[in-house]
Amino acid sequence: MRYADLHVHTYYSDSTFSPEEVLSAAEEKALSAIAICDHDTTEGVAPCMKIGDEKGIEVISGVELTVEKPDAEIHILGYLIDWKLGWLQKKLKSIQDGRIDRVYKMLEKLKSENINIEPADVFGIAGKGSVGRLHLARAILKSGAAKSFREIFEKYIGFGRSCYVPNIKFEPKEAIEMVIEAGGVPVIAHPGIMQKDEYIRELAGYGLKGIEVYHTDHNNSTTRHYEELAKSLGLLIAGGSDCHGAGKGKALIGTVRVPYDLVEKLKEAADNSKSGAHPG
Ligand code: AMP
Ligand code: FE
Ligand code: FE
Ligand code: ZN
Repeated sequence: MRYADLHVHTYYSDSTFSPEEVLSAAEEKALSAIAICDHDTTEGVAPCMKIGDEKGIEVISGVELTVEKPDAEIHILGYLIDWKLGWLQKKLKSIQDGRIDRVYKMLEKLKSENINIEPADVFGIAGKGSVGRLHLARAILKSGAAKSFREIFEKYIGFGRSCYVPNIKFEPKEAIEMVIEAGGVPVIAHPGIMQKDEYIRELAGYGLKGIEVYHTDHNNSTTRHYEELAKSLGLLIAGGSDCHGAGKGKALIGTVRVPYDLVEKLKEAADNSKSGAHPG
């Protein structure tokens, strides 16, 4: 049986793993395929594909986009996008620039909680690519101002907490259309974290194609629930570990995986949407 982990980050967003480390870990877990889904960047896709080719591991292009509702943060995976498109890169760049401003704003808010972190500490941890809250959390941890990621997110930077700042405005419909226009398949990530199924129904109306049913943060009953929801809405089932390297403790790659035939279904969906976009 061949397996795929369809949610893997690299150090181009908030994983600690380089493409080499990602592919070595995938090889150790005997995965046939992985999808690289970094936050708002596709920079890791080509380097991972190159190493994947050498190792005989299929690397699927992807991205993880963040959209917000007043009461929820929604992550949308875009599988099989044509990451080379100029307009797509331009849009991703503007989102990444927004992430930089957001770090400064969150650092200001943290000051009023008596947590003083230099911007350079956060950007130093982030290195190349897309900066985010996990980098900020690591800088806070390093400063000794808090003892765990859990404490940091629950008290300060989790969605809606005192030092949380949203990303630049990006509507769910816009994100889904962007993935489809880039030839990809939009799938809602880890809906069990959000627990607002009404938004899945809304997104399905905009062209959402699947649900990430299997995920590290989904227990058995959550998984069964989203399996049923996917079936009832006629959506594809996806799944992956959401591995952040050592960024959240231990490397998770391969601990959540799906049979390879789900990859084939995603490819069919991408082909269908492409032929739909260009009739004849
Ligand atoms: P950002 O894209 O900058 O909004 O940051 C998102 C990152 O923060 C993702 O890797 C999430 O898994 C992580 N994250 C968000 N909320 C929490 C939380 N409550 N506990 C741990 N990690 C979280
Ligand atoms: Fe992340
Ligand atoms: Fe996510
Ligand atoms: Zn992720």
